[in-house]
Amino acid sequence: MKKSANIMKNKSNPFFVTGLVSDFLKWGQSYSLWPYPFATACCGIEFMATAAADFDISRFGAERPSFSPRQADVVIVLGTVTYKMAPVLRHVYKQMADPKFVISVGACASSGGMFDTYSVLQGIDRIIPVDVYIPGCPPRPEAILDSLIMLQKKLRTQSIEERREEVREKIKIMEEKNKPVVVE
Ligand code: SF4
Repeated sequence: MKKSANIMKNKSNPFFVTGLVSDFLKWGQSYSLWPYPFATACCGIEFMATAAADFDISRFGAERPSFSPRQADVVIVLGTVTYKMAPVLRHVYKQMADPKFVISVGACASSGGMFDTYSVLQGIDRIIPVDVYIPGCPPRPEAILDSLIMLQKKLRTQSIEERREEVREKIKIMEEKNKPVVVE
């Protein structure tokens, strides 16, 4: 068992661990993150490689892709998101149950990438709060696994109140970014 903040090995008996129930729940949750792969372009192929035998995402308990948002814990956005597709992504995010997380994979999902055009959303953090950004075009499967480990650490150390506060703060920033520019 990997150690969480307050989960300790019993010194007299290594087969026992002690800790708070909430920490055990967080530990269990962190090793059973069910991803919703929102793959729209080439980064999706990297996710497929991450899930396949060589990189084996199941080592981190995230091998069960959920194509129903209601059964997913983390939406992994892989590829370009157009304005036409943006409401769909937002709808998927809204349908997920709390606590829910977002990983933005690659330049396109994080910033629009090379597609600085009229039709492409310039970063998914314009419409949903992102937890982990992965740079690259495309990022390597190791980077996707690394983001998962970062998310697991976050999940184990953050309280529910801190999580709510973080999401509230990100939504505030999002709304600020989306305000129309008024030229007088
Ligand atoms: S970041 Fe690069 S590899 Fe990923 S979807 Fe965009 S163009 Fe494709």
